[in-house]
This record gives sequence, C-alpha cells and structure tokens, in this order.
Amino acid sequence: MVSGLILIVGILFLALGLITDLSVKKIPLKVERVIGEKLVPGFPGTRLGSLDPLLNQIMNKVPEDSIVHKYGVKLYSYESPEINALAMPGGRILISEGLLNALESENELVMVLGHELGHYNQRDHLRGLGRGLGMVVLASLITGPNSRMTDFVMTTFLSFQLNYSRAQERSADEFGVELLIKHYGHGGGSIEFFERLLVNNPHPPEFLSTHPDPENRIDHIRELIQNSGVGMGETVPFQIPAELAK
Ligand SMILES: [Zn+2]
Repeated sequence: MVSGLILIVGILFLALGLITDLSVKKIPLKVERVIGEKLVPGFPGTRLGSLDPLLNQIMNKVPEDSIVHKYGVKLYSYESPEINALAMPGGRILISEGLLNALESENELVMVLGHELGHYNQRDHLRGLGRGLGMVVLASLITGPNSRMTDFVMTTFLSFQLNYSRAQERSADEFGVELLIKHYGHGGGSIEFFERLLVNNPHPPEFLSTHPDPENRIDHIRELIQNSGVGMGETVPFQIPAELAK
C-alpha cells in the first residue's frame, strides 16, 4: 500500500520534471507573460521606461530571426542596493538600482542587457522556475492561463531563482558580446564590470557568482572579442536617468 503510494508519487515527480523540461523550450508566450506579471510585483519600486531608447537600439541589433523579438522586451529598474539583473518570464528584464549605480559606462550596461537578452534567445531563463513551472503549465492547460487554479498554483509553487548552468551563462555572454560589438563597433566595456565585481570582490553579486570560475568567464569574453577582430575602444559615460537617481 505504502510502496504503491511512493511509486505513484515517484512517477508524478518524474512526469513533472519531464513536463518542466519540455516547458522550458515550448511554453506558450502567453503563459510566460502571465507568470511574469505575477512575479514582477515581488520586486519593490519597479520603474519602467527611462532606459527604453537604449533598449530599442540594442533590440535593433538582435538577429531578425531570434525569438527575442517576439517577447516585446521591457526594461525595469527596481529599488535595491544589491547588484542584480534578471531575465523574468515574459520578457521583462529587471535591473537593480544597485547595479545601475555600479556601472562606469553605458557599454557595461549594454553588456549586461545583451547577456540577459541571450537568456531569452536560448529560452533558458525559465529553468530558474524549476518544477513549479511544470505545475503551472499543467494547470493552465487544464483550466486556462488566467484561471483561479493557475493563479493558486503560481502563488504556491513558483519562486524565481537564478539557476543557470555554466554553458548557459557562456552562451548568454556570447550573445551579449555580439550585440555590444554590433552596437559600438568594439568590445570596450565588456570585461570591466565583471573584473570589478568578480575578481576584485570577495563577495560577488549572486547573479555573477553562479558561474564557477569568473576568470574563465572573463578570458572567454576576451577571446570572443579578439576572434571578432575588433579592439577595446573608448567607452561612453553612463548617466543614470534623472528619474532613477536618488
Ligand atoms: Zn546569466
């Protein structure tokens, strides 16, 4: 009796893992947006709009056939002294005010932005939702994305954690470097931010420390820039938009 129950729970657990794995690449954008709308209010003081002109310029450099264009990406800042950036489900990129304050050039911001867009390009940003994602997809298939059931499952089982593999971070860096070079014509600003925050910092921000070997990551970025035949040109100073400055 008990072993039968354990078997059923085990099968359900495996099935949920399978659904989650499939969902990460196949989840309809509509469901993803509903999830994103649910999660964004968990971040205090989100503000939209100030950095849109820069975001639009970068979006113009994203390859035409990339799924990123389907997201209608929006860039939000949120109130937090921590240095953090997240590609939320549904195309909302959240950048903390702590990160904006730590930037020394616009190029560094474009690198961070390009990296987050890379996660949408690979559609690996949903992995951080874990098995809860499988449950949300199941609920929304059965009862619709806006149903009370889906809402309940989301509130109960979803929490967003940064959970990328080394390979995913590497591909996101590659995507970011490509956009940076297309935008500025050189690789300046691609490494400085990581160097300041990873190598010289005993407590690197969490979103950067998911990668096990920061120096490796920096070497890889440097190599990408060398291989593309461009140098490290001069960077553009970054000014925090007046409405975000405190
Ligand atoms: Zn990342």
